[in-house]
Amino acid sequence: MNRIYLDYAATTPVDARVLRAMQPYFSRAFGNPSSLHSFGQEAIAAVDVSRETIAKTIGADFREIIFTGSATEANNLALRGALNWVKGQGSGVRKNKRPRIIISAIEHESVRETAYALRRDGVEVIEIPVDAQGFVDLKKLEAALNPQTVLVSIIYANNEVGTIQRIGEIGNMIQKYRSSRQSEYPFLHTDAVQAFQFLDCAPLELGVDLMTLSGHKIYGPKGIGALYIKNQISKIKNGGGSFVKPLITGGGQEFGFRSGTENVPLIVGFAKAVEMAVSYRIKEGKRIAGLRGYFWNALQKIAPSAHLTVPCVNMAGAGENIRFLPNILNIYFPDHSAEYMVTKLDILGAAVSSGSACHSRAHQSSYVIEAMGFPRARAERSIRFSFGRQTTKKDINFVLKKIQAAIQ
Ligand code: PLP
Repeated sequence: MNRIYLDYAATTPVDARVLRAMQPYFSRAFGNPSSLHSFGQEAIAAVDVSRETIAKTIGADFREIIFTGSATEANNLALRGALNWVKGQGSGVRKNKRPRIIISAIEHESVRETAYALRRDGVEVIEIPVDAQGFVDLKKLEAALNPQTVLVSIIYANNEVGTIQRIGEIGNMIQKYRSSRQSEYPFLHTDAVQAFQFLDCAPLELGVDLMTLSGHKIYGPKGIGALYIKNQISKIKNGGGSFVKPLITGGGQEFGFRSGTENVPLIVGFAKAVEMAVSYRIKEGKRIAGLRGYFWNALQKIAPSAHLTVPCVNMAGAGENIRFLPNILNIYFPDHSAEYMVTKLDILGAAVSSGSACHSRAHQSSYVIEAMGFPRARAERSIRFSFGRQTTKKDINFVLKKIQAAIQ
């Protein structure tokens, strides 16, 4: 049976060029990067080149890139690592008061659930609401900053609806707040996992201190992520400590931030995927936005009661002012549950999803859509189509036919 995949925001296939780049590091150049002999040298050289590639892409120093086992782990390192810094000496955060972290109401589970776990440990967690299009309320964010605020974590582009936050503006706001208090915190973290494929993610320009990336959303392998941690170079040179404390201790790999033997093939594949994503960004953004517009225009004819969750269609898919990712189309089907649509379409040969793929396989309604002010009934009837490099007009026509069959 013909099967069409429209769930690229959940994960992407590994690109053949990425696979080719990784292959030698499984069984030929298999050395441990910490070993002193030539096998180890070959492995550490590959890790260093990969780190440099990713660092250069985002305008960072290579010592600011920490490889992790997933973006989920990188998000945990950002949140928990910054909170652990507070427990140390000299952080400036008052120890007799609860530290505060601020997140948006539409973070990915890896930030949201980590924040909730920290709340159970006594941290104050403030969730900033979003409007009906998923944009964070910047006034409420500014009002939530206080001297106990250690970290602000705002997702760059949302994985369910594609809304792109004004991270640069948030960066300026936090910088101003810090200057007014002559303080080095709050730190700003952004989860750029979905954004990276289509947006320039330069932490210095955005004013972020921490940034999360993932391999498998950009045609790289699963099980590899990275956390950018600002200023490690000067901190290391000056013998000072970082504002992020490691969660995994041991042999001191990854500049002490993440012990454990580096996964060389995955790191090499990740860097190759990053390199390719940057070269595809503009062209692919435009192509996919065009396909998405075509899909929506045709869908309205076969499903007139369907609604867009956010007004992303007919907007540019690339360039300076895009407000929604070009690859995500979230649609409300008032007459059918998301569970029905996803399973029925799967039987008919089209893979789509309801909400985030990253929570357990059990169906839950989307907290993201509810946070945007829509009733639960709508959240339970919304599904996400996400397009990728392999998607063609022919695929879209196929899926449209299947939708027509599913809703009859
Ligand atoms: N953050 C966002 C925005 C995501 O979409 C995902 C994956 O769905 C993650 C984090 C988690 O990534 P990983 O699967 O690498 O842990």
